[in-house]
This record gives sequence, structure tokens and C-alpha cells, in this order.
Amino acid sequence: MPQCLSAPLPPLFNVTDAHSHVSSTEFDEDRDQMLVRSAQSGVVRIVDIDYQEDAVSKKQMARHNGIDLICGAGIHPHDASSYHEDKNQLLAALDSKQYSMVGEIGLDFYRNLSPRDEQISAFIDQLDLAVEYQLPVAIHSRQADQKTFEILEHWCKRTTGYLGPEREPGMIHCFSGNAELAGRYIDLGFQISISGIATFKNEMNAPEVIISSPISSILAETDAPYLTPEPHRGKRNEPIYVLDTIRFIGKLKGMPAQTVADTTSANLIRLLGMDK
Ligand SMILES: [Zn+2]
Ligand SMILES: [Zn+2]
Repeated sequence: MPQCLSAPLPPLFNVTDAHSHVSSTEFDEDRDQMLVRSAQSGVVRIVDIDYQEDAVSKKQMARHNGIDLICGAGIHPHDASSYHEDKNQLLAALDSKQYSMVGEIGLDFYRNLSPRDEQISAFIDQLDLAVEYQLPVAIHSRQADQKTFEILEHWCKRTTGYLGPEREPGMIHCFSGNAELAGRYIDLGFQISISGIATFKNEMNAPEVIISSPISSILAETDAPYLTPEPHRGKRNEPIYVLDTIRFIGKLKGMPAQTVADTTSANLIRLLGMDK
């Protein structure tokens, strides 16, 4: 007799991966198959953070494989020291109108790959670009909670409602702070994006963040190829694994996973102004 075989999980539909790097070279060998696998598992849209590859052909390739690819363009805090050299390419990308978000931008005081003052000035300059191009922002913040919040709070006060009264200004990608900070970001109008880190057994903040944040302010992301969720840790991450994060959120909120998939998809669509 087989021992306690667990029933297969019900399929999900209308799934969104709100932040990933599917243009990364880590997918060069099998990008098509990875996208087909994602589409067959219910993923319908993926946000790809990259401004160096041609967005039009990337989107066509993804559409051919059943995925609506949404592109974000921004200079990462790791690269802040070459901000002035790279900015022209970023501006060309934004001018092409193929990008729906400015990001990821922000502060990374964990790896400190660029000096902090240069990270701060590149971050503030790109927040202004988001207003100029009328796009929401995708924020990266690592071990920089206080400074990131302070900059965003000040920016929000200066630019209130720049995308219109019903649009959020952006998302905090791979949110890793506590529930109190999540609440303060939600009060500013931001969406909180939950990554696979939430599923790690030693992750302390995520359960409370998920429970205390309204589902209307939550997104789910992979940050693929990084941060692979349980039970796939150790493998390369890819958009298909956002399903595990969505199921995890559903379990904590006592909500069907399909409701989480539908709501997180609607939240991203609203953030991007694609519901208008
Ligand atoms: Zn990031
Ligand atoms: Zn990322």
C-alpha cells in the first residue's frame, strides 16, 4: 500500500508574477520552454525587470508562448556608481513607450556595491523620472528600511496623485520589513510584493505582513532566477513557482488560492493603469 499519497493541488488560473528577471542570461538556454511551462501552469503575465534587451521582440516572443510580458526599466542600486553613464540608455528605453514601470530602483545597504550617497541620488533622480514619464515605481530596499521609507514618504508628499487619484504610485518588491512598516507603506499608497522568501521556515516577518495587509495591497512575485520558494529551494527560480507563494498567502489568509491569484493580478493591473 502506498503511504499517504497527497492529493494533487488544484490548478490555478490568471496568475501574475509581479517581479522577475526572465531576460537574465540564466534563462538563455531554455527561455521558450520556461515561458510555455509557466503558461501551462496558469501564469498569464510576468513583469520582467531589464532595460537592455529589445522590449518589442521580448514581448512578441513571450506572447507567442502564451505570456503577457510587462517590462520595467530602472538602474539598480548596485549600479548607482555608473548611473550617469547608463542614464542615456535608460532614457531611450523609457522614450520607447514599451516600459510600464520605473524599476527596480532603491537602496541596497546590505551589499553596498555602490557608495550609499550615489545610491541615494540615483534613486531620487529616478523617482523624478517616474513622474516625468507618468509611470509607477518598483522599489528595491535591502537593509535600508528607514532611508528608503523616508525618501518615498517625502517623494509621495511632493507628488501626490501624479498618476491620478485611483492609482498607487508603486510597489515595494520583495518586501522584507515587518508588519508595521508594511502598514506605513500601504498608508502611502504602495502595494506590498511578497516573494518566495515568505515561504522560508526561518522567515519571521512575512506571516504577520501577509495576515495584517489587506489583500487589495498585496502582489506575488518570484524575483526569478533568485529567491526560489519552498519546496523548490536550491533550484533556479522561475515564474511557475509564484504559484507556491500564492498558495502560501492563501493558506495564511484563509482564502482560496484562486482568489489570491485573481486579486493579486487585479492589483497589478490597477497599479499599471491597465484597467482604464
Ligand atoms: Zn531587487
Ligand atoms: Zn529583482
